[in-house]
Amino acid sequence: MRSTSRERLYRTEAIILRRQDFGEADKLLTLYTPGLGKTRVLAKGVRKPKSRKGGHVELFTHSNLLIAKGKSLDIVTQAETIHSFLPIRRELLRTSYAYYAAELLDKFTGERVENRPLFDLFLDALGWLGDADDLDLVLRYFELHLLSYVGYRPQLFQCLRCARPIESETSVFSPRHGGLLCPRCGEGERGCQEVSPQMLATLRYLQTRDYVLCRRLRVDRSAHEELETLMRRYIIYLLERKLKSVDFINALRKEEAASLTPVLEKR
Ligand SMILES: [Zn+2]
Repeated sequence: MRSTSRERLYRTEAIILRRQDFGEADKLLTLYTPGLGKTRVLAKGVRKPKSRKGGHVELFTHSNLLIAKGKSLDIVTQAETIHSFLPIRRELLRTSYAYYAAELLDKFTGERVENRPLFDLFLDALGWLGDADDLDLVLRYFELHLLSYVGYRPQLFQCLRCARPIESETSVFSPRHGGLLCPRCGEGERGCQEVSPQMLATLRYLQTRDYVLCRRLRVDRSAHEELETLMRRYIIYLLERKLKSVDFINALRKEEAASLTPVLEKR
C-alpha cells in the first residue's frame, strides 16, 4: 500500500510552551495540545525575518497547526494564530507568571500523554493572566487544579495519618505526605508548614470552585505569601527541584520594589 502525503499530515490546536533555537534558522517547539498532550516539533526557517510562520508560533500563542510526520521530528508546515494573548506579552510581570505556568505544565507532563482538562486549564490560565488584577490568585488556582489533573491533588480535608476530618483547628501541611496532618499527627513532623483555618478555607475554595467564583476572593499580601510558600514547597518536593521561572518572578518583584522606593523617598 502506498502512503499518500495526506496520511503523513495532521492538524492540531496547540499552545507554544517552549522555544529553543535549532540549527541556523529553525526553532524546536514544545507544544501542548488537546489530543497529544505535550509534543515537540520543528518549525523551519522561523528565525528568518521574512518567515510567514514565525508570528504564529511565538511563545504562549494558541495556534492551529498543520504538521508533517518526520523521521525523527515532526515539522510544522502551516500555522495560524487563534489567540495571541497579547496582554501577557505587553507586561513583563504577566509574562513572568505565564512562564511559570508553562514551566510547571512542562515539568509535570510527559510527552504524548493526552490530558484535555489540563489543556483547557492552561488555555484559560493564559487568558486570566492577561487581565486579572490578582496574578498570584491565578497561579494558586492553576497550581491546585494542575496538581489534581496530574495525580498530585493535595489532601485538604482530612489528616493523612489518622484520617480524622480537619475542621477549625490549626493543622499542618506536609509535602512528604501530600497534604494535611492534624495537630496531633503533625507534632514533631519535619518540613511542615502551619495552616490556619482561614488559610485552609482559601485553599479549599481554590481547589473546589471554578475560577469565576475564585477570582472574587480578596487575599491580602501576607496571606498570599503563606499560600505561595506552601505551594512552592510542595511543588519543589514533588519535582525535586526549583523552577527557573521562580527566580525570574522574584527578580521582577525586587526590581518593582526598588523602582518604587525613590518615588516614595522624594515625597
Ligand atoms: Zn491525624
